[in-house]
Amino acid sequence: MHTAKYIFVTGGVSSSLGKGIISASLGRLLLARGFTVTVLKLDPYINVDPGTLNPYEHGECFVTEDGAETDLDLGHYERFLNIHTSQANNVTTGRIYQNVINKERHGDYLGTTVQVIPHITDEIKYHVKLLGNSGKYDFVIVEIGGTVGDIESLPFIESLRQLRWELGNSCISVHLTFLPYLAAAGELKTKPTQHSVKALQEYGVQPDIIVCRTSHHMSVGMRQKISLFCNVPPTAVIECMDAQSIYDVPIAMMEEGLDREVLRKANILSDQTLDLSAWNNFLKHLKNPSKTIDVALVGKYVELKDAYKSIHEAFVHAGVANECKVNVKIIHAEKVTKATVAELLGKMHGVLVAPGFGNRGIEGKIEAIRYVRENKIPFFGICLGMQCAVIEFARHVLGYADAHSSEFDIETKNPVIDIMEEQKKISGMGGTMRLGAYPCRLEKTAKSFETYKTQDISERHRHRYEFNNKYLGEFEKAGMMVGGMNPKEKLVEIIELKNHPYFVGVQFHPEYKSTVVEPHPLFVRFIKEALLHQENVK
Ligand code: GLN
Repeated sequence: MHTAKYIFVTGGVSSSLGKGIISASLGRLLLARGFTVTVLKLDPYINVDPGTLNPYEHGECFVTEDGAETDLDLGHYERFLNIHTSQANNVTTGRIYQNVINKERHGDYLGTTVQVIPHITDEIKYHVKLLGNSGKYDFVIVEIGGTVGDIESLPFIESLRQLRWELGNSCISVHLTFLPYLAAAGELKTKPTQHSVKALQEYGVQPDIIVCRTSHHMSVGMRQKISLFCNVPPTAVIECMDAQSIYDVPIAMMEEGLDREVLRKANILSDQTLDLSAWNNFLKHLKNPSKTIDVALVGKYVELKDAYKSIHEAFVHAGVANECKVNVKIIHAEKVTKATVAELLGKMHGVLVAPGFGNRGIEGKIEAIRYVRENKIPFFGICLGMQCAVIEFARHVLGYADAHSSEFDIETKNPVIDIMEEQKKISGMGGTMRLGAYPCRLEKTAKSFETYKTQDISERHRHRYEFNNKYLGEFEKAGMMVGGMNPKEKLVEIIELKNHPYFVGVQFHPEYKSTVVEPHPLFVRFIKEALLHQENVK
C-alpha cells in the first residue's frame, strides 16, 4: 500500500507567526518536486467548526467544495497548492470530543472508562491517518493550531508524540518559533526558542526542524547555538525572514532548504528539480505592476483584514492577471450615508460590497450601491452584497420603499430577499446553511457568460436567504437581469444590470476558488472593468 509521510507543524513562543503560510509553502515545494500533498489543520477550540464564530475570533470562515465551514488556513492551502480541501482537512477539539461522546453513547466503549489517552488521542490519530490511508498522498502536512504550552493543544501534541513513536521516520516534526530583536542590544535572541523547544521536549516530542521567524538575518553562530541547545543539526535550523508578501515565502523556504531537510529526515532521495516556474512568473508580475487602481471593499470589519482574507487574496491574484496593483480600501459600511458616499466612493475605480450577516452596516451598503449604480462605477456584490443590490434596486428603481431582506425586517411587505424554503424548518445554527458547491447555469446574454466563457459553472455557497422569485418579472422589466440560475432549484445566483458598464452581484462566494495559478474569472473581470473605468474618468 502507498504509505504517506506525515509532517507536523507546531508553533512556539507566540501565536500568529504564520504556521499556515509555512505549511502551505512547504506543501508548495513538495508539490513542485512532483509529490502529492494535502494539508490538515487541527484546531484546539471546542466549537465543532468555526461556522458559528464571528470574524473577530479567528478571521474569515473558509468554505470547501463539500460544504465544510473551516479555518481560514485552508484557504491558504488551496491558494498555494491549487488543491481542493474538504471536511477531512479541518478537525477541531469539538469534533473529536463529539465523535468520542457519540461512540460512548452508542456503546462502542462498553465497560471501559473513556479517557483523553487513549480515546481522544486515538480519535485524533484516526483523523490524521484518514488522509494518509486514502492512498492519494505522499505527504500529509498537519498543522496544529495554537502555541506549544497551551492547555488546549495538549492532546494534539500527545497524538504527535504517539505517531512519532509508531511511525518513526514517516512522521516529521517541524517547529516554528520566533526570534525577538532587541533594538537596544541590536541583537536577535534565541532564548524563547530554546524554552519553546524544551516545552515540546517535555511532552516527549523532539523537533526535527526548527523554523525561526525573524525580522533580521541570523548569524552562523546563532544557528549553531540553536542547533546545540535544541538537538537539531545546523542545516535543520531554518531562517524565515519577514517577507514583503506571503507569496515570497515558498521561495524563501526553498532557498533555506526546508523541503530538502524534510526529505532528508524522511529518507527520501529526490533528484527532481523544483519546478516553480509558474510561481516565479506570478511573483514577477506581483512585484512589477505596470498600473495601479483603487478599489473599495464596503464591509463592517474595517480593522480586521482577516475577516475578508479570501477576497483580499483574490484581488492579489486578479491584479497580477491584469498586471496591475490593486489598492483595496476598506470602507466602513456604517460610515456610508447620503452625505458621505460621494466623498468615500467618488474616486474609486470599482466597488465591492462584502458578504456578511446581521443588520449592522446594511443601510450604508445599500447607499453605496445606489451611488455606484447611478454613477456607473463598476460594482461587484458578493452574497450579502448581491442581496443589498437587489434591495437597493427594489427600493429606488421599482419604488418599493420598504423592500428588505426578511433577515433584517421580518415584517416587510416586500421581502425581495427571503429565507429559502428548506431553511424554514431549521432551528440549529451550526452547519445548517446552504453550504458548499452548487451548479449554476449562465444566461448566454449575460456579461458573466462572457467572463466564464462556459455556460455551466459551479461555485461555493454560504447563506440562508435568496432572491425572491415572486419579484423576478418586475426586476427584469426594469433592467435587472438574471445572469445565472441554479438549474434544478431555480434559485437566482447572479444578477446583472443591463444599463450599466459593469454591475454584477453573485449569491455565491467566488473568492474561495481563486488561487495563484487560477485567479477567479469574476475577480479578473472586475479589475479589468475597474481599469477601463479609470481610463474613462481620466
Ligand atoms: N446573511 C445572508 C444570508 O444568510 C448573506 C450571507 C453571506 O453573505 N455569506 O443569506
